Amino acid sequence: MTNPILQDWTTPFQIAPFDAISDQDFAPALEQALSAHRAEIDAITANPDAPSFANTVEALEAAGTGLDKVLSVFFTVAGADSNPAREALQREFSPKLAAHFSEISANKDLFRRIATIWDAHETLDLSPEQQRVLMLTHRGFVRSGAALEGADEARMKEIKSRLATLGTSFTQNLLADERDWYLELSDDDLEDLPKFVIDAARAAGADKGLDGPVVTLSRSVIVPFLQFSPRRDLRETAYRAWAARGANGGDTDNREVAGEILALRSERAKLLGYEDFAHYKLETEMAHEPGAVRDLLMAVWGPAKARADADADVLTAMMQDDGVNGALEAWDWRYYAEKRRKAEHDLDEAALKPYLQLDRMIEASFDCAHRLFGLEFKPLDIPLYHPDCRAWEVTRNGAHLAVFIGDYFARGSKRSGAWCSAMRAQAKFRVVQAPVVINVCNFAKGDPALLSYDDARTLFHEFGHALHQMLSDVTYESVSGTSVARDFVELPSQLYEHWLEVPEVLSKFATHAETGEAMPKAMLDKVLAAANFDMGFQTVEYVASALVDLAFHEGAAPSDPMQKQAEVLADLGMPAAIGMRHATPQFAHVFAGDGYSSGYYSYMWSEVMDADAFEAFEEAGDPFDPERARALEENILSTGGSRDAEELYTAFRGRLPGVEALLKGRGLAAK
Ligand SMILES: [Zn+2]
Repeated sequence: MTNPILQDWTTPFQIAPFDAISDQDFAPALEQALSAHRAEIDAITANPDAPSFANTVEALEAAGTGLDKVLSVFFTVAGADSNPAREALQREFSPKLAAHFSEISANKDLFRRIATIWDAHETLDLSPEQQRVLMLTHRGFVRSGAALEGADEARMKEIKSRLATLGTSFTQNLLADERDWYLELSDDDLEDLPKFVIDAARAAGADKGLDGPVVTLSRSVIVPFLQFSPRRDLRETAYRAWAARGANGGDTDNREVAGEILALRSERAKLLGYEDFAHYKLETEMAHEPGAVRDLLMAVWGPAKARADADADVLTAMMQDDGVNGALEAWDWRYYAEKRRKAEHDLDEAALKPYLQLDRMIEASFDCAHRLFGLEFKPLDIPLYHPDCRAWEVTRNGAHLAVFIGDYFARGSKRSGAWCSAMRAQAKFRVVQAPVVINVCNFAKGDPALLSYDDARTLFHEFGHALHQMLSDVTYESVSGTSVARDFVELPSQLYEHWLEVPEVLSKFATHAETGEAMPKAMLDKVLAAANFDMGFQTVEYVASALVDLAFHEGAAPSDPMQKQAEVLADLGMPAAIGMRHATPQFAHVFAGDGYSSGYYSYMWSEVMDADAFEAFEEAGDPFDPERARALEENILSTGGSRDAEELYTAFRGRLPGVEALLKGRGLAAK
């Protein structure tokens, strides 16, 4: 019998036949798909004809369709609806997949064919997109070390394997320190804490098998405690433990681990012919080189520090009014900031919620896409992997464009957070593939389901990613949709959040669940103003981390990362009462793996662009300006990674972005 995952899908729009697939189908389907992919690669390298774009690069693009099918179905259900069988499969699959892909990237015969084509690229009659795909394919192989020979090749292997081990140790050490420490709270210690903080402390205690409430070092427990506990002594104890994670000496100390990781990364970049790791890493990004990152971060640092310094004065005065003398410390900031927030922006979350109904917010996100890009959404009744999933057919002028799936509610089988993925990416080679895109969120169920304002932003954010996939209009799948530079990928999503803030959108769709009345203007104003509260602090803690990350990877690797961190912070004049968002021994973004190493800046890079890009609509005087919307689709939402990010942005905006709109958006611009 044919495996239902690998046979042709005859369902509407060739959506995976979830009702016919069982967990037992995944492992055999994966084995079959892996060997089919291997055979396709072998056929490419065994081809007696001279290497050509068609018989090598296009053949690679076309290979692995079975693997795509298995992985898209498997990762969808493993992330959004897991169970013990799927968890076991995931543990089994991940080393297999890692080995499979590293075997391909180390395939010398394949690399020689690609290198031959690349050497001749200027003389080949290729479209701009084909040139780009060729460049990216070649670059990917070179960056993974395919061009190295002999001792260099062997050393690269050693470095990669040691880095993988160190990354795992870093994560495990951090987890161990977070798990081991807790602070027991007596009844007196709970006085004046809001109920939700007490509940969280009790739950944390129960989790540890204790009778009473505790503070732990998990962000969701300690941050509210620091915000709300009037007990300065307890705040200090908890904060000091939090700041010491990964730096407590002994087996779980991450300081030496960080040093070794930085040294190996630097060696790896040099082996590959780069000046340093930051240059290696940023080559594939829109920023291109460390100088551009530093310029951006420093342009934001000055105004952020000025705001934080001014805020520190206000908070110090509040503390002194409380009868506490001396300097404002890192364990005081959140507590006095929370008091100030209450005084200045008294926003009642409970009163706000009935205005943000999930179904109305989905309608709002669709309506904006209709007004901007002419998209229409029609509910689809098809079997999916969970009864909570909903699907829509997306059309434009009557023509099929995509299928959009929304899986909105939290449940135990779903991992936390929110994400967007393409179960099938858009492409035209070798066959035309219309995208199937899914948004997964973790909203609380209810009748009707109500969102917080943050939830509504998340909904718009993920839908922005979905638009990037659904409006994609490229030939090759490897450059389709969200296959773009890391510091560019959040532009469509963060940009789309701005439409939620358009007053006419909220006044039309934010209607009260019981009375049907539109959200009052005063409430809307409060929501928007509260979004920028304490932005000096938030920007300073983030930018300091991003600058330390950059300094670690530029030039020679520091022999003592902690000393390097101290030097960078001293040069910046880091405000004494603000810690880094992630200090070195806890900086998992940078040390747990390669993902955000010399890339922590990218959140802000994207924010610079989204603020600047939305300003294009504001300048036109209409948030739905048709000409700007067309330019956005033509140059950013439809192009995927088929052109360089900098070129795309410039084509949309007529220039590169400046930081002014971001500073204004964060309320940090000089008044
Ligand atoms: Zn995102």
